[in-house]
Amino acid sequence: MFRRRVHFLHIAGISVGADVSSVLVLLLVVWSLGNRPGWLPDLPSAMRWGTALMGALLLFLSIVIHELGHAFAARAVGTEVERVTLFLFGGVAELRSEPLRPWRDAITTGAGPAATGLLVLILWLVTRASVAVTGDIGAAAFTLLQYLLTINTLLALFNLAPAFPLDGGRLLRAVLWQSKGDYRWATVVAARVGTILAAGLILFGILVVLRFGQTLAAPELGIRLSGLWYALIGTFLLRSSLQIAQAYRASPSLGSPESSNAPS
Ligand SMILES: [Zn+2]
Repeated sequence: MFRRRVHFLHIAGISVGADVSSVLVLLLVVWSLGNRPGWLPDLPSAMRWGTALMGALLLFLSIVIHELGHAFAARAVGTEVERVTLFLFGGVAELRSEPLRPWRDAITTGAGPAATGLLVLILWLVTRASVAVTGDIGAAAFTLLQYLLTINTLLALFNLAPAFPLDGGRLLRAVLWQSKGDYRWATVVAARVGTILAAGLILFGILVVLRFGQTLAAPELGIRLSGLWYALIGTFLLRSSLQIAQAYRASPSLGSPESSNAPS
């Protein structure tokens, strides 16, 4: 699936790696955090940017934890797991075989947001405990924890949107698949819902870009870039959902699960 993938390490036999496109995301996140008005304004510049880099790397680690949730659950229900890969739009758990039952698909899919939910709970507890730590290190740690808490909460909620091929969309498909016993029909319906939501996300992104299109100051530029980002993710989801719907509508023989990749 990824031709320019770099392998980092094995976790319980699962290869964890990144596509080179994720470097762009890393740079964007570091830039937007470092320019954020509330991001440790009283600290020396080197420490602010160092903390921004750490925030971006910990965001990547959060995505890996989400994908490993999918991967370990897949393995637990008898699906072969190949690897976990970070790429331009987040992460993906690449599975080698298919979850051939709705409940297997639902468990594999639900485990990603569940892993992120557990991470949010742990981060919340650590954030509360870290209030007592003072000084520059305390301020940096607290800012990082708050950022990770917010971004992981948003990640869990975003992934649960029923926009196939996001996790919420896959869960919707599993429910439809279970109710009618028709995998092909469930995939087409979930993909249609995904297309509508993806179009809404693109429109929202364009509105954000237009709304903040008047100024070049860093915070507003950051908001405009985030709008562009929503539109890009929306375009990726729109393309995926349209391709999947078309493949399943066009080919009557395609009655079994297609790719069981579970995007973040
Ligand atoms: Zn996921």
